[in-house]
Amino acid sequence: MILDVNGNPLLALNIKHHHQTLPVLFDHYLKLILLMFFVMSLLGFYIVNRYFIEPLINGASAINSMLVKNDLQPLRFTNQFLEMRVLISGFNALIKQVKDQNFKLEKISKIDGLTQIYNRRAFDEIIAAQWGQAQQQKSTFAVILLDVDHFKNYNDFYGHQGGDTALQLLADKLKQIAKLNTGTVARYGGEEFILFFKQLSYEEFVNISQQLLLAVNELNLPHEASPVREYLTISAGCVFATKETVASDNISTQLLIKEADEMLYEAKNSGRNKALTKAH
Ligand code: GH3
Ligand code: MG
Ligand code: MG
Repeated sequence: MILDVNGNPLLALNIKHHHQTLPVLFDHYLKLILLMFFVMSLLGFYIVNRYFIEPLINGASAINSMLVKNDLQPLRFTNQFLEMRVLISGFNALIKQVKDQNFKLEKISKIDGLTQIYNRRAFDEIIAAQWGQAQQQKSTFAVILLDVDHFKNYNDFYGHQGGDTALQLLADKLKQIAKLNTGTVARYGGEEFILFFKQLSYEEFVNISQQLLLAVNELNLPHEASPVREYLTISAGCVFATKETVASDNISTQLLIKEADEMLYEAKNSGRNKALTKAH
């Protein structure tokens, strides 16, 4: 009813409507679609999680633990999906390349290029570690420093390449003798070599030092420019420390090497082609 300003009825509106039920918002059909949508989402989430996210998290944590331990290893798991397999095999190929390169670099940094025995840097590390072990194991310790006699003359006479070959043959021989007596040999510089041995008696050690001279003599490398002998010879300075001396704090590898150098100097000055030994 619409009224005028005085409150008198002006117009009566009569609205009729049909009796109708409101449409149901969630009918069975829609519920089914929603349920399917929910199940599909769950399934999708499960697949992505199981085959992509989980392997990625596992891979990342494996890589992290490799970095912490400083130990690179290939990833050991595989995956149903090609993309993940490509990723894993790519990573593993990269690890292999890095390990191969590390191996080569380590070798280059420790091995002398000409003679293929340890260089001085590697020797310093090894002797320090072995000295510590010898002190704990109550072992003897012995060092030999040796130098080729009149090698400058050798080079002048046979050429630098001839000199190189002689150093290689000599190093092979030293390596052989060191190995037989569980010793370690290294090129100390130029035509100087160094060896150390553990667990030897004094007599065994002196015997080895004489074997070295003999073995070099038996190489029979002609050295026509040598005033000592017509074949290549070496001189050696040797130092032996008993297990009591090693265990005491009065001695070090630096001191042993210094004393071996002094003995070498004496061997040179007293005619060369000899090994002189000092015992502690
Ligand atoms: P001594 O008997 O007193 O030891 O005399 P020496 O001539 O052996 O000693 P010197 O120190 O005068 O000379 C060492 C020589 O060794 C000089 C150097 O050219 C040579 N030499 C050092 N390293 C190498 C190398 O790698 N190859 C060659 N061919 N010669 C080398
Ligand atoms: Mg020298
Ligand atoms: Mg020399």
